[in-house]
Amino acid sequence: MISLSKREFLEMPVEEFIIPAEKVAHVQLGNNVEHALLVLTKSGYSAIPVLDAQFHFCGLISARMIMDSILGLERIEYEKLEDTCVDDVMDEQIATLNVHETFKRALDLVINHAFLCVVDDDHHFVGIMTRRVILKQLKKYVYQS
Ligand code: AMP
Repeated sequence: MISLSKREFLEMPVEEFIIPAEKVAHVQLGNNVEHALLVLTKSGYSAIPVLDAQFHFCGLISARMIMDSILGLERIEYEKLEDTCVDDVMDEQIATLNVHETFKRALDLVINHAFLCVVDDDHHFVGIMTRRVILKQLKKYVYQS
């Protein structure tokens, strides 16, 4: 990375640091949580995006949310996995990053999230920006001579 001023660094567009949507494991609205748990377990990710049929970003779902949804008073009600919809379990209150925003906003948001979901102006899912990628860039900036 060429030597950047603090302002140039913070104003870098996020676009070039995005893991594109086609490489991001996701589930669709209407899928059951059994399918979501399968994708989460097979991919090894802690949480994945939920998208609608038009690829709009709708929320995030994690294994913890799924387990919470099937937790009975005395036992885990595994039989509910098939009949519970991701729509009813996902977290919709997720802050998103617009593809045209800057590194500064990503840095602000990533403090509380392991990854950020990136959308375009129509809220179509564009991809994710992970804390790992952001920290890598921050490290490059801090150590630049
Ligand atoms: P990482 O920085 O690779 O450890 O990723 C942090 C988190 O970002 C993971 O736990 C996932 O929730 C999410 N994530 C990273 N890469 C992907 C991907 N290709 N598909 C879905 N989620 C991902």
